[in-house]
Amino acid sequence: MKILKTISEVKEYIKPLKLKDQIIGFVPTMGALHDGHIALGEEARYECDCLIYSIFVNPTQFGPNEDLDKYPRDLDGDIAKLEAIDVDAVFIPDRSVIYPENYKTYVKVDELGNILCGKSRVDHFQGVTTVVSKLFNIVQCDEAYFGKKDIQQFIILKKMVEDLNMPVKMISVDTVREDDGLAKSSRNTYLSADERAAAPVLYRSMVTAKKNIDLYFSPEELIEDVHTMISMEPLAKIEYIELRRYNDLSEVEDLSEEGILLILAVRFGTTRLIDNMLLR
Ligand code: AMP
Repeated sequence: MKILKTISEVKEYIKPLKLKDQIIGFVPTMGALHDGHIALGEEARYECDCLIYSIFVNPTQFGPNEDLDKYPRDLDGDIAKLEAIDVDAVFIPDRSVIYPENYKTYVKVDELGNILCGKSRVDHFQGVTTVVSKLFNIVQCDEAYFGKKDIQQFIILKKMVEDLNMPVKMISVDTVREDDGLAKSSRNTYLSADERAAAPVLYRSMVTAKKNIDLYFSPEELIEDVHTMISMEPLAKIEYIELRRYNDLSEVEDLSEEGILLILAVRFGTTRLIDNMLLR
C-alpha cells in the first residue's frame, strides 16, 4: 500500500491510472478506523480498479469547544487495517497541506447544514463540504463511499456534488453495529463503562419505533414514544429526535409516507452519539 503525504505525490500516483481509464474509488476518513470504515472499502473493492483512503482529522469541521485535540488517533493500527483489505493507497496529509497559511475558500450547502446536527454544530457541515471537495479535487476519484451512519453528512455531500457538477458517483453504505446494536464510531472509545452499557438504548428504541410505526397516528406521537424510551436511561441526554424524509431531509408530515428516517443525537456524559434508521 502506497502512503501519500503531499498533493504532488497523489498527482504522480493517479496520473497512470487516469491514462488507463481506471476507476478510482475513494473513502475519506478521520482515522481511528473500525469495521464501519472498513466496510466502505470492502464495498468499493467490487466496483473500482483502484481503492484510495484518506486519513485527515479535519479542523474546520470541529467547533471551538469540540474534541479536535483529543480526537482518537492510531495511525499504525489504521495502516495495518487498510493493508489487510488490500487498499492501494492512503493519503495522509498534514494540516498545512490541506489548509496552507492564508487559506480563504469554503463550500456551503444552504439550509441542509443548519438543521439536525447543524443546529448545535454551527459551521460543522461547511467544514465537511469544504474538505471533501478539496479531497475530491486532489484524488480525482470516480466514486466515493460514505456511511449511512452520518446520513445528514451524506445527503449534504450528495447535494454538493449535484449542485457543483462534480463528476463523482456518491455511494452510501449501511451502518455497521456492535453486537448490542450500538453503531460503531471512533467516539465510542470516550464512553465510560456505564455510558457504554446505556448507549444501546438508541438502537433498541429505533427498532421498536420501526416495528410499531403503524400503531402511531402522527409523527409527534412516535417521536414522543422514542423520547420516553431513551429517557428511561438516566445517563442519556437527548439533543434531538426527528423524523425526516430520506431523499432530502425535509420534514415528515404523515407516517404513511415512504422513505421516513428516524434520526437522533443523544449525549452520554460528554460524548455525543448520533444514529438513524429508515422506518419505511
Ligand atoms: P469519520 O472517520 O468519522 O469521518 O467517518 C468516515 C466515514 O466512515 C464516513 O463516511 C462515516 O459515515 C463512515 N462511518 C463511520 N462509522 C460508520 C459505521 N458504523 N458504519 C458505516 N460507516 C461508518
